[in-house]
Amino acid sequence: MSLLEVTDLTVSFPTEDGVVRAVRGVSFSINVGQTLGIVGESGSGKSVSTQTIMGLTRGAQITGSAVFEGRDLLGMSQQDLRKVRGAEIGMIFQDPLSSLHPQYRVGWQIVEMIRAHEDVSKKDATKRAVDLLGLVGIPQPDRRVDDYPHQFSGGMRQRAMIAMAVALNPKLLIADEPTTALDVTVQAQIIDLMERLQSEFNTAIIMITHDLGVVADIADDVMVMYAGKPVEFADRRTLYYRPHHPYTKGLIESIPSSEGGRGRLKPIQGQPPSLINLPSGCSFHPRCPYVMDQCITEVPPLRQVAGSPSHRSACWLPVDEVGFGDDVEAQREKVAASRRGALATQESEVVPAVVSAAGTTAPPPAQAGPTDTSDNSDIGDQQ
Ligand code: SF4
Repeated sequence: MSLLEVTDLTVSFPTEDGVVRAVRGVSFSINVGQTLGIVGESGSGKSVSTQTIMGLTRGAQITGSAVFEGRDLLGMSQQDLRKVRGAEIGMIFQDPLSSLHPQYRVGWQIVEMIRAHEDVSKKDATKRAVDLLGLVGIPQPDRRVDDYPHQFSGGMRQRAMIAMAVALNPKLLIADEPTTALDVTVQAQIIDLMERLQSEFNTAIIMITHDLGVVADIADDVMVMYAGKPVEFADRRTLYYRPHHPYTKGLIESIPSSEGGRGRLKPIQGQPPSLINLPSGCSFHPRCPYVMDQCITEVPPLRQVAGSPSHRSACWLPVDEVGFGDDVEAQREKVAASRRGALATQESEVVPAVVSAAGTTAPPPAQAGPTDTSDNSDIGDQQ
């Protein structure tokens, strides 16, 4: 049995302008110790899906089910959900500064969280808070436990959030853009930390991100979402090496390469659609370079893609082996070109530059000074 099984989840928000259909039929499952990456641009429904599962989207119209260890979270009272949140399902948010209370010491906040769920003395809970801060890599945790959030760097605050999220050893950790506000070095440290904690505690992780690069190392499976719907699902390797959906391919091509080179990044043209007035047929069709007549009128269902039993894609491009040989790109283009009808391939939009720079060079690295940086392992992150 899966640890969490979400089936046909829909979430809508009635507004004065119309109904925002934020999530439209999301299904996935996750097992103990597994990591699922949920990837998509802003407005794809990835965060709303998990916030709904945790009972954090009050006022929304919700259908479907989210069964966690045999209990449907969507049918639970807020009181019962409060017992699940933190103790059984931990959450890490993008901005730890808005999640940590600025008026209370970091350690105090961890202690209160522990004592809200467990009958332990303040002394024991404080000892655990110090241990947890040490576990997530906060230097001198016995001293820093009494710091206020503003005395921590951004990376340290995120580590403190992780310490709080794993304090009660939850079976599932939902990390919503946990590294977005951090620079790449600290980002890598946080991902390493989460991997280490996962192998230590066998925690299942749902990692939500707009950046496919973030889940490249950590996810077992990846679900790509667009306009409130899952558009592709596959194991990590298949998704990166043999993406089927043009949106996934666009996301992969927009990852900056660490190998440098002079090539330009290839952003996905256009903008995500309004969730009040969704395009007909495939929601991605106004931005898709492979659009065909069928795409404009018919919604593509998730279909299995040949080659991997778990690989599914919601796209009308062929999913059989014949259509996708070794030269995936050539096949793709051939098929799309032959079936393209009234719609011409969208011309690349030429966006006038707002700022341009030329001939810039990086200064040589600064010499290490006498300053003691032992307390600031995240010195490179954004404050
Ligand atoms: Fe593009 Fe058509 Fe596939 Fe949608 S269904 S992603 S428009 S090729």
